[in-house]
Amino acid sequence: MTPKQNILNLTYQVFCDAVAELGLPKFRATQIFEWIYKKHTFNFAAMTNVSQSDRDVLAQYFEITLPQVDQTQDSADGSTKFLLKAQDGRLIESILMRVQDRRTLCVSSMVGCPLKCRFCATGSEIGFIRNLEAAEIIGQVLAAESFTGEKVSNIVFMGMGEPLLNREALEVSLDLLLDKKAVGLAPARITISSAGIVPAFSEVINKFGVRPALSLHFPTGAQRSEYMPVNRGYPLAAVLADLKKMHIKPRDHITIEYIMLCCINDTEEHAHELARILRGLHVLINLIPYNPTATFDAQPSTAAQMDLFIKVLIDRGLRVTVRRSAGTDVDGGCGQFALRREAFLGKVGTRTHCMQSKCSRNQRSRCKKCDNEKF
Ligand code: SF4
Repeated sequence: MTPKQNILNLTYQVFCDAVAELGLPKFRATQIFEWIYKKHTFNFAAMTNVSQSDRDVLAQYFEITLPQVDQTQDSADGSTKFLLKAQDGRLIESILMRVQDRRTLCVSSMVGCPLKCRFCATGSEIGFIRNLEAAEIIGQVLAAESFTGEKVSNIVFMGMGEPLLNREALEVSLDLLLDKKAVGLAPARITISSAGIVPAFSEVINKFGVRPALSLHFPTGAQRSEYMPVNRGYPLAAVLADLKKMHIKPRDHITIEYIMLCCINDTEEHAHELARILRGLHVLINLIPYNPTATFDAQPSTAAQMDLFIKVLIDRGLRVTVRRSAGTDVDGGCGQFALRREAFLGKVGTRTHCMQSKCSRNQRSRCKKCDNEKF
């Protein structure tokens, strides 16, 4: 007997074709999608406007399986972190951020990540475990909406993993996020963040019309290679050339993510070099205060250094924002929530910072280069 297909892995069109093959009317596919995506009902038995005989046929060939909420943490800034458990017991992390009416869900595309960026808890401490299925990506949205009763208005692919290295599942989940029969978000409300997997990056952005965010973080190829091994396979020049191929609407932009590391990438020279390589691109630079991890020996930039960096960029005609880091009081950096839970389960070492604010692992430290005290 062939295994049941998880409907959350199927686009509307593919599900329509499958329903037709079973000899059921096409409107059954529309009804089932409404139950799943609009009413958050994941059990055929509760789909009362579908005849019992058709429910029996559907249950014979399909299932509706999404990851289950394992833990949540509410942050003082109003965000909620979700740790979801997949069917194989693996943990998937997502964060719901609340700003005024906006509900932005940061979703993961992998368990862990193979790219090993040195400043990132996911890459350096968890490593790559596996890709997520489309059902596990879209399941993060459905789980957050069901759990909170709130409608997600924006999606950012900025959680664990590199989405473009899981392209098939990414494309199915984008189809479902955009399709009015499923989640039904406008393309401008979805952002794909990539460390620079090209040419897949521009291909996906142009195909779906969603917004791009490049995790750039360093203004030279040499520095990128030192801190982001992905640069050895996807060099900076090729990544910048790929950005130029993207169809960006006149009022829109490419977001450039840049983590601020004291004395590593935050000098005036770095700011000038950043402005130089981005010349001619319509970008918004998003500076990210570094959220320390235990395995990377670096400190966040000082406020004064950030101000200087921002001034150089603005003087060079660039637009700059500083990211408010959601949930940093509850292990908010990429992968840190999952890492702490995995440590609790004995799957990885306890190397992340301690939840007890007085723990010696959380003591103030100094930047080894400028000797400024940081936390
Ligand atoms: S920063 Fe992103 S791309 Fe780099 S290791 Fe972490 S999850 Fe992967």
